[in-house]
Amino acid sequence: MSTTTNQTTWQEATKLAQIGNRSDKQHGAVSTPIYLSATYAHPGLGQSTGFDYSRTANPTRQVVETALAQLENGRFGFATSSGMSAVQLVFELFPAGSKFLASRDLYGGSYRYFDALTQAGRFQFAYFDSIDDLKQQLSQETAAVFLETPTNPLMNEIDISQAAAAAKAYGALLIVDNTFLTPILQKPLALGADIVVHSATKFLGGHNDLLAGAVITDSDELGEKLAAALNTTGAVLSSFDSWLLIRGLKTLKLRMTQQEKNAKKLAAALRKEPLVKEVFYPEKGSMISFKLAKAEQVSVFLASLNLFTFAESLGGVESLITYPSTQTHADIPEELRISYGLTADLLRLSIGIEDAADLIDDIRQALWKTSEGDKNTRIR
Ligand SMILES: *Cc1c(COP(=O)(O)O)cnc(C)c1O
Repeated sequence: MSTTTNQTTWQEATKLAQIGNRSDKQHGAVSTPIYLSATYAHPGLGQSTGFDYSRTANPTRQVVETALAQLENGRFGFATSSGMSAVQLVFELFPAGSKFLASRDLYGGSYRYFDALTQAGRFQFAYFDSIDDLKQQLSQETAAVFLETPTNPLMNEIDISQAAAAAKAYGALLIVDNTFLTPILQKPLALGADIVVHSATKFLGGHNDLLAGAVITDSDELGEKLAAALNTTGAVLSSFDSWLLIRGLKTLKLRMTQQEKNAKKLAAALRKEPLVKEVFYPEKGSMISFKLAKAEQVSVFLASLNLFTFAESLGGVESLITYPSTQTHADIPEELRISYGLTADLLRLSIGIEDAADLIDDIRQALWKTSEGDKNTRIR
């Protein structure tokens, strides 16, 4: 856990590049030292250096937790072992029997977790499709609302301020998974959310070399409860991985700017392609989903790509393409997926920092090969 005290007037890019600098008072190391020690000597009985045991607090982790808190306009930041452990940590706050509302289009792993909690009889989850639907389903019994915006993978946007006001009217907390836009493009706490979670594996880490999660709040009460829960359950980020996350965060703004710039060009190019039936891009961030004319074309299209890597995950410097139906969202029952538009012709792109022209060329040549493949099948 970390509490931020020294808010500076620096701009975001400056704060990011400076993460951890001056944290080593002893030697002046510019790159944050990696404290591998599990335990810390007590100067005397009842005395502490501020660090006793690394599950409770670790100097390297504290640097990244402070940075995460500042970045998301909160005062309490927690770095966890994965995005899913961040989500799990938040749900540790609620007593058995609590009722939740979650956005319908949701990361498959979060859906799987919510389903498991429901099956175990611990919590109840209901899902909403729009802000109006959310307002209709909210009741005095709702403990919290959990949402993603834009949603994964259909890019539906939900107004966080409206959702926060609606939740507050019923005394419910608002939890936002801000993985897709990051605090560079969207700060949910500033819009009224109570808790922000991240899969820091994605944009925050940014290099596809790290699993990490983050939880941030500005509430003293929630901050204390989260700290106690994390110390109790123990899914903290290791000191080495904390260092990797610090290194990734330093370039977050640069990366997001380039990735978004590339994504805008890619989305515009995709919209001109006759083989592309529909493009889902909210004109912000670097995640794009699109539908091919026919689901049968997916396999040839994927095999024809040379630059995009066919792999799960997102947010890294390398561009990836994902097939949600069999990868990220396979745990959502097929019938349910199709009912809200996650159909077998849908592909999801995570646009990296490569040159946009190369990315567009790769998509175009793969679409061309796919349409040629169609012609050949017809001739046969
Ligand atoms: C990947 C992802 C998660 C889960 O994070 P992990 O780091 O893979 O555990 C949660 N939410 C969203 C939106 C994600 O994309």
